[in-house]
Amino acid sequence: MASHIGIMGLGTMGSALARNVASRGYKVSVWNRSHEKVTEFITKYGDQSFYGAEHIEDFVESLDAPRKIILLVPAGAATEDALQNVVRALSEGDCIMDGGNAYFKDTERFQNQLKEQGIVFLGCGVSGGEEGALYGPSLMPGGERQAFEYFEEILGKIAAEDFSGKACVAYMGKAGAGHYVKMVHNGIEYAEMQMLAEAYDLLKRIYKLPHDEITEIFRGFDQGPLDSFLTHIAVDVLEKKEGATPLLNLIMDKAGQKGTGLWTSQEALTLGIPTPGITGAVFARGLSSLKDLRTELALKIPTQELAPVITSADFVKDLESALYLSRILNFVQGLELLQAANTEHHYELNFPEILRVWQGGCIIRATALKDLHEILKQAPNESILKSTWFQKKVQEHFQSHRRVVATAASHGVPLFTLNANLSYLEALRSSVLPANLIQGLRDRFGAHGFERVDEPGNFHGQW
Ligand code: NAP
Repeated sequence: MASHIGIMGLGTMGSALARNVASRGYKVSVWNRSHEKVTEFITKYGDQSFYGAEHIEDFVESLDAPRKIILLVPAGAATEDALQNVVRALSEGDCIMDGGNAYFKDTERFQNQLKEQGIVFLGCGVSGGEEGALYGPSLMPGGERQAFEYFEEILGKIAAEDFSGKACVAYMGKAGAGHYVKMVHNGIEYAEMQMLAEAYDLLKRIYKLPHDEITEIFRGFDQGPLDSFLTHIAVDVLEKKEGATPLLNLIMDKAGQKGTGLWTSQEALTLGIPTPGITGAVFARGLSSLKDLRTELALKIPTQELAPVITSADFVKDLESALYLSRILNFVQGLELLQAANTEHHYELNFPEILRVWQGGCIIRATALKDLHEILKQAPNESILKSTWFQKKVQEHFQSHRRVVATAASHGVPLFTLNANLSYLEALRSSVLPANLIQGLRDRFGAHGFERVDEPGNFHGQW
């Protein structure tokens, strides 16, 4: 019996997704560059549901026509290699879905190149890590609608469920829209992780709370409005011990990155959209990797330790508020970037659907997405910043956010996301900013001109 679908790449994501697809009643052919992984996979999970192919030709031959293949390999050169390898064995009308974290411009290039050969190509963001891939990921497919229709049924069956039980998959839009949305999802993920790390740092460095107490504070956060997948697994990470020692105390404080946060920030800079919380998180990871320099400077620039003026119980309440407001701002910045990209790249994004698809399976799933989704359902193309809901939330949490940032500054604790998001908000609510001085300076040294507040036109000063 021919297979319904083929999966190329049996790494963490490919093997989990292959098992998920097979569990929904599909026959799946699998192929991997190094054949040992196929043998291992078939030995471990092999039954009537799988066919393990050694050569790419067998793999392609084993599939029902038109063939449907999901590629799950690292973005960039590996994806390009794997595509070249498989395309020579495919026929016109066959379809490939790239489920890796590809750069959206590569996805658009592959789509155009493959179209010339009659192959249909779908770029699909997949979120949820190994567990998501196995039990239900959040899926963000984009490209030609026909390409989506090839995979629609299978994707609908393997996806996670949103808050109302619908599959967390929707056609995101044209060209590289799927991978663009996934890129921004990952940018938000950077900011979310950074602000949680900042909260941990504040409790540890200013209040010197015992590790187990910090764990309980995070557990409390997870049971309130901050409920999210990342808050939830932060409790798992905090709880883990080796003997009596928290594992966290043994993990080196250098954060890795694979590039999606950087791409999000580059895009934000290119399109002129401020994403300070997200971009701050990318800088924070860069700074974390400067371990030797930090260790040297810590000895050379000592600081005076001050006693906190706010009780730890009151600070925890402020912190919960600041994290909540900052979370909203992380999503707002991602959405503002997506709005600009929609205009720039003509994706035809469906904003309420994006927030619905992020409700289940993905790394940034959070209870806050329920309210954000409702707002966008009412006004799909309006900025969340203009909603009365947002303005009300700001009123509720603003002062707490300010106290948290002020406390961090007076105790020398660096904040990249919580601080950047507060400044973002302060700037947005300032009808007057000091950009008049910048314009004056630009005109003084470079005759760049300026607008006046009292009459229209372009002016120069007689400096
Ligand atoms: P992984 O565990 O490192 O597996 C990588 C797979 O790619 C292996 O099967 C490897 O084959 C294959 N591969 C590498 N170079 C290749 C090449 N030149 N030609 C053909 N195959 C090649 O990676 P993963 O975590 O499964 O990630 C797969 C994709 O999903 C990536 O784009 C990743 O960014 C994305 N993703 C990952 C996660 C996650 O949480 N891990 C979440 C969402 C998306 P060999 O066995 O021969 O080396």
